[in-house]
Amino acid sequence: MTQWHPHPDQLVEFAAGSCRPGISIAVSVHLHYCSRCRQALSELESTSAVLFEQQAPAPVADTAFASLMDRIAREPAPAAAPEPQTEQRFPRALAALLPESLDELDWKQPMKNLRVTRLMKDDSGLIVGLHHMKAGGRVPNHQHRGEEISVVLEGGFSDRLGSYGEGDFIRRSGRDTHSPQADAHEDCLILSVVEAPVKLTGPLGWILNPFLKA
Ligand SMILES: [Zn+2]
Repeated sequence: MTQWHPHPDQLVEFAAGSCRPGISIAVSVHLHYCSRCRQALSELESTSAVLFEQQAPAPVADTAFASLMDRIAREPAPAAAPEPQTEQRFPRALAALLPESLDELDWKQPMKNLRVTRLMKDDSGLIVGLHHMKAGGRVPNHQHRGEEISVVLEGGFSDRLGSYGEGDFIRRSGRDTHSPQADAHEDCLILSVVEAPVKLTGPLGWILNPFLKA
């Protein structure tokens, strides 16, 4: 069971089809692992279908979504939630961007324990890429320039704010600094979605914005 989820507003946007494309990929990948968010999404979708059918003239109360999420958080995950395909190594939204083997990707290696590759840039300027950290490897403390979304695909890592495993959806703002370290027993593969970098930011710029040269 994943511990870190998209913000409820992101699920609402996703349900409405109004997410930026890069974020939509990250949310889709998280949904593959998370029955709680799949349930929230299907409730959202049926709620909007009902509202649409009724053409309700009155707006929904501001608190309606918060109380829905509250209720879902308190309920146990349903045993009957539809299971995603598991025979594939990666969720479909990501698999569509990948060659047959990850080795075919154009990896850059900014440091010994870390390699990165860029998969696509969406039309809103978000870059979707992969980070691959060696088992036990640590990335020096750094700060991001903009928001970064990470979804753990394989393995796990931790930083001063928490520990993250498969499926976890982690959002870091430009103010957070962190020094992620991969779990000791296996390599960690992470999907990342970041704003396209505008410039390098000093000696650590390559680590901050590794996609600049990708
Ligand atoms: Zn979730």
